[in-house]
Formats: sequence, structure tokens, C-alpha cells
Amino acid sequence: MAIMTSDNLPLQNPTINEVVINDLCTGCGTCVSICPNEAIELTVDGKKAIYIPKLNEDKCNNCGVCYKSCSGHSVNFKKLNLEIFGKEPDNVLLGSYIDCYTGHATDYDIRYNAASGGLVTQLLIFALEEGIIDGALVTKMSKEHPLEPEPFIARTKEEIIEASKSKYCPVPANIALKEILESKEDEKFAVVGLPCHIHGIRKAELINNGLKEKIILHAGIFCVHTINFSGSEFLLQRLKIERNEVKKMNYRGEGWPGSMLIELKSGDKMFIQISEYYDTRFGSFIPTRCTLCSDHACELADISFGDAWLPELANDILGKSIIISRNELTEEILQSMVSRKIIELNEIDSGKLAQSQGMLRFKKNRLKTRIFFFKLFGKKIPSYNQKLPRPKHRDYLMAMWLYLWIFIASKRYLWGLFTIKIWMAKWISYFRLI
Ligand code: SF4
Ligand code: SF4
Repeated sequence: MAIMTSDNLPLQNPTINEVVINDLCTGCGTCVSICPNEAIELTVDGKKAIYIPKLNEDKCNNCGVCYKSCSGHSVNFKKLNLEIFGKEPDNVLLGSYIDCYTGHATDYDIRYNAASGGLVTQLLIFALEEGIIDGALVTKMSKEHPLEPEPFIARTKEEIIEASKSKYCPVPANIALKEILESKEDEKFAVVGLPCHIHGIRKAELINNGLKEKIILHAGIFCVHTINFSGSEFLLQRLKIERNEVKKMNYRGEGWPGSMLIELKSGDKMFIQISEYYDTRFGSFIPTRCTLCSDHACELADISFGDAWLPELANDILGKSIIISRNELTEEILQSMVSRKIIELNEIDSGKLAQSQGMLRFKKNRLKTRIFFFKLFGKKIPSYNQKLPRPKHRDYLMAMWLYLWIFIASKRYLWGLFTIKIWMAKWISYFRLI
């Protein structure tokens, strides 16, 4: 994607403008932190309802660092796997790993208040209290702007707990890398992020050794896709709540599978079950870049966490996490936590783990269909240097269906059609029952 002169010579280093123009930005925030000239800031694109970086041309000296660390246009999985794990993964769906588990924190409050199991929160608290890390890059919802996320470096147990729970909105987690880059020389950190955040961090570490030395623990969260800011607007509209009435918004927590909490300035509180708000088609508010993402299990993290959607756990009311432990350090930390009875773990085989994550196949097996449509319309796609399975014919139809509903979600005046879809789904399930 390098810019060429008429003599076919590279004119200059590409910048993140290339990524933004081609709609490949994930909004991860890496470029904001890594730019040595502070020439990039993130702003919310009102139309696309996602974060987009803005380059200040006056400050930019065209060093190319932002582009090199940007995972929006490319993630060389082969190179990064060799760099991190010393080999390519045997398991295409999960990535490299040492062992897989289901588990949960034994502290009731931590477990109950997390999205599932409370293991990420407990792991960070343990690493902090044991002096393994000095802080952790995490994200909470802003108090000032309750519908916006606030990535920050947590340095106390209370701050880590404050950042528990999932955030179903765009999260530019890597803007907080700046604080890690500016921290004292001997300080060590954990980072918590979605696959796209971890991709950006791993790429940035390739060109910034200081960052690589400071980040000793990469904790990844499984991700199917994020939800753009219009998703929350849509929900509030359905609930007849004005955004300026909202004091606090927790997307998930309160046991398993969890509820959304909307607290109003008036003092009223609403709890909405996760299944209930996903039934409203909240899940159609997908940034298009997410449909081109190939990583569900956060393959480049040291340890990955997800929800344990297993039939035998359906009646569990507190929740359990799925854990993929990928290196010796994370294995050691997990076993120390078990021996101190801070967490409980059960080994699980990789096939069972894949069974708990139906969307693994959406990401890997069907990605080629979505790439096909992007290419068909002459649009740029990210490069991954990764083997992808061949999709089935019906997967192409499913991709068209997906883009249809993403299109509808992107047009406020079409939101009424979601009611028709819900109505159709109800009738289809009714006819299946009789
Ligand atoms: S580094 Fe992240 S935020 Fe910056 S352009 Fe790339 S994908 Fe977008
Ligand atoms: S689907 Fe991929 S790009 Fe989108 S939020 Fe998840 S990890 Fe990031």
C-alpha cells in the first residue's frame, strides 16, 4: 500500500491516513501512543460511530512508525507467531497454547460482578499484589461521559475492579500505551485487550524494544466483533431514554450470563438481560472492519479469556471463563493462584473449547466469503499471512445477509426494519415448533 511516484519509486512512508481512507482502521489507538511527534489524535466519526485517528500534518515528520505498528492494514500472523511462540500454531482456530481450562475466581463479588468468572480481574490483582507487574492497561466506562470508554493504567486493586465487565462499544485501549512508554525504566505492565489491541501492541513491540520489555503479560479477550456507538443509541431509543439522562452504563455483569445496567441521573435503574438486548438486533451494529477480522481467540496474547458457553454450564448463575494459557509464565501464575485457592480451574480439551465458541468458525471458516465481497466491490482488505479454511457455498449467502443488516443498522431511518426481523424470527421459530 506504499505511495509510489510516477517512476514507480516509493514517495514517502505511508501514514495511518492510508488505513483510514481504505476503511481498515479498527480504532485500536496504537498509532496515537506510538507516534513520537504526538501528531495523531482519536476522534469519534459521527457517521460510522467508531473511533478514527486524525493526523496533524504539521506535526508529522513522515517517520512511518504509526503505519508500521498499525494492525488495521496487516497482521503477519506467521512472523508474529514465530517471534512470540517460536513456531506456527498447530490449531488454526485457537492458535498456540500450552493448556485450556474452564475456571472462575473464588471471590464471590469479583466473580459476580465480572462478565464471566472474574478471572481477568483476579489474575491482574494477583500479578499486582505479587509484584509481577506495577500496573495494568485496562478500560472502564467514563464517569463524565457514561457512554464512552476510558482506557487507563490501573495501579491498585480497586482500579482493576473498577475496570471489570465487558464494554460493548468501540474501545481505543491502546491510547493508554503512552503511559507505559513514559513510565519508569524498571516498571512492568500487563495489558488487557481484544485481538486487534493485542495485534497492535505486538506490532509496536517489534519496533519499540522499550515497550516490549515493559509489557510482560498480554491478556486477550475473545472477540466476535465490537458494537459501534450507534448500538447503544439504538438501545436507548428503544427504551425511550435520552443519552443525557444516563449516569452509568454497564454492558454486562451481575452473574451469568449477565445483564446490562443502565442507571439514570434520576436515580432509576434498569437491568436488561443480555439475551433481551441482543434480541433487539443490537448485534447488527458492527463496524465493517470487524467483519474482516480473523482472530477470535486472541491468538497472539500470552493468555486468552472468553465466556464458557457450554451446555453443561447453562444452569450456572455465577459464570465461568474459558482460558487458553499460551506460555510458561501464564501457566505458572495460574497454578500459583490455584494452589492459593484464589481461583478454581478445570482442564478442558481444545475440541470442547471450540464447541463453547460457535463464532470461532464465523471468524475463520467464513472470512473468505466476506473478503470475496470486499474484493468484488474493489475495496482494500487487510493482509494476514495466515491459512484460512475454505468456506461452503451457503456461507456466501450468510455473508450477504450479514452485510444487509449492517447496512440497515447504519441508516437510522431504517431501524424500524429490525422490528420486522424480530417478528419474522418469532414466526419462524413458531412454525419450527409445530
Ligand atoms: S493503529 Fe489502530 S487506530 Fe491507528 S490507524 Fe491503525 S488500526 Fe487505526
Ligand atoms: S472483531 Fe477484531 S477488529 Fe473487531 S473489535 Fe474484535 S478484535 Fe477488534
